[in-house]
Amino acid sequence: MTTRATLLEGGLIVDGSGGPAWTGDLLLQGERIARLGEGLRGRLPAGLKIEDLRVLDCRGLVVAPGFIDAHTHDDAIVLHEPAMLPKLTQGVTTVVAGNCGISLAPYAAASAGPPLNLLGAGSFRYAGMGAYMQAVEAARPALNVVALAGHTTLRYATMSDLTRAATTDERARMAALLEEAMCCGAHGLSSGLFYAEAHAAPADEVTALARIAARHGGIYATHLRSEMAAIIEALHEAGDCAFEAGLPLVISHHKCAGPANWGRTSETLPLIDALAARQPVAMDVYPYLAGSTVLREDLVDGVIDVLVTWSDPHPEQAGRLLAAVAADWGVEQLAALRRLQPGGACYFQIDESDMERVLAHPRSMIGSDGLPHDRHPHPRLWGTFPRVFARYWRDKGLLTLEQAVHKMTGLTARTFRIAGRGLLQAGHMADVVVFDAARIADRATYDAPMQASVGVRAVFVNGECAYRQDGDGDTEGDTEGDSEGDTDGGNDAPRAPARAGRMLRRAAA
Ligand SMILES: [Zn+2]
Repeated sequence: MTTRATLLEGGLIVDGSGGPAWTGDLLLQGERIARLGEGLRGRLPAGLKIEDLRVLDCRGLVVAPGFIDAHTHDDAIVLHEPAMLPKLTQGVTTVVAGNCGISLAPYAAASAGPPLNLLGAGSFRYAGMGAYMQAVEAARPALNVVALAGHTTLRYATMSDLTRAATTDERARMAALLEEAMCCGAHGLSSGLFYAEAHAAPADEVTALARIAARHGGIYATHLRSEMAAIIEALHEAGDCAFEAGLPLVISHHKCAGPANWGRTSETLPLIDALAARQPVAMDVYPYLAGSTVLREDLVDGVIDVLVTWSDPHPEQAGRLLAAVAADWGVEQLAALRRLQPGGACYFQIDESDMERVLAHPRSMIGSDGLPHDRHPHPRLWGTFPRVFARYWRDKGLLTLEQAVHKMTGLTARTFRIAGRGLLQAGHMADVVVFDAARIADRATYDAPMQASVGVRAVFVNGECAYRQDGDGDTEGDTEGDSEGDTDGGNDAPRAPARAGRMLRRAAA
């Protein structure tokens, strides 16, 4: 009858609520957190003996809820590379997919154009969200997946000409597809009005869809129509849409992009607080000074650095600066960009003090916005969460440890209405990360972006150990004893990591 159980003993418990940390134990039983407290070894639940437990010595380590990546484009990668090491090595146990209006479902086509090709142009095979969710379950990813339905995907699925507003008939077909997605358990709607393929959509096209998401208890996340000169107007548009539809708003990867707009978070953050007076508003942010997306002419100003991350016609140029490519070819940067399309790039368009102001704001959550299909990806894909601890808690003191964890867990679960996760609380699902607070750090850089972070010691997903990494050469925290009757086989050898992630379907409203 042995129920799989793990005792995490003597760690610094940071529970995800933002409240003060304390030293104690955490008992995981089956897929859930069974109890928290001090000296749990001496007062186990009836029928459970210490010999039945795997015990992890967490003295000197932090025990926190598994991190929730609030902003991802992991829709296809969870199917194709379900081990999800870029995220697991950071302590992430749940990813929110389908951001920026770009979701893999519902859309089936042999090849997809921009910006959907950020997910891999050939991956679009799911005409409904239900079929996509079944595929995720069959792929058994190592972490949990939350899906948003993307407005741009809905446009691709229903319109032949994306340069105009949807007709009444096209709106009805989009509504039906979104209705199916929400009924299947999508957590809401996303949009990317910044992108040409959605830019012609008037506000009321999006508001009508947001009303459907609202009726099912979903949220609305948006990559604003502008993050540059017109950002204030774009924030008002997003706020009005969410207010009229009656649902919570998430502003994606909040930034004021381009040197002409640096410093303007002093305008945007007070406006976001004002909008939050009439409906819930949150935002996500990544701790880097470059954005990354498809190659776009309007983002190349000849001033900021542009680093090529992929190019279909010229894959050999990935990892090089656009200025260097242009010099080699003897052309202007814009001409070089056109030759490299379709492709992607990092744009060094963000000011450090703006980014820090957003990071420190109580409404911001951590989201990587990583692009897993890029040949030479932005380092945020592998480094976001450890970098927040290393640089903005440990080095700069911009956040407390508890605040940093809250922005990765409790706040995110509450914002996206992800039930039963994001806090260390008895009865919650056992998504847990154990990390070394003194050592956790990102290793990924713009030059060498595909490098695992360090300092994360163990990651549990739905009660299963999904990742283990011992400290540098020492064995502290490695006193694992195995339970009889468990699949461990009763020896101390490290187990193959479990792939115990789930498709998280939002409960009916
Ligand atoms: Zn975006």
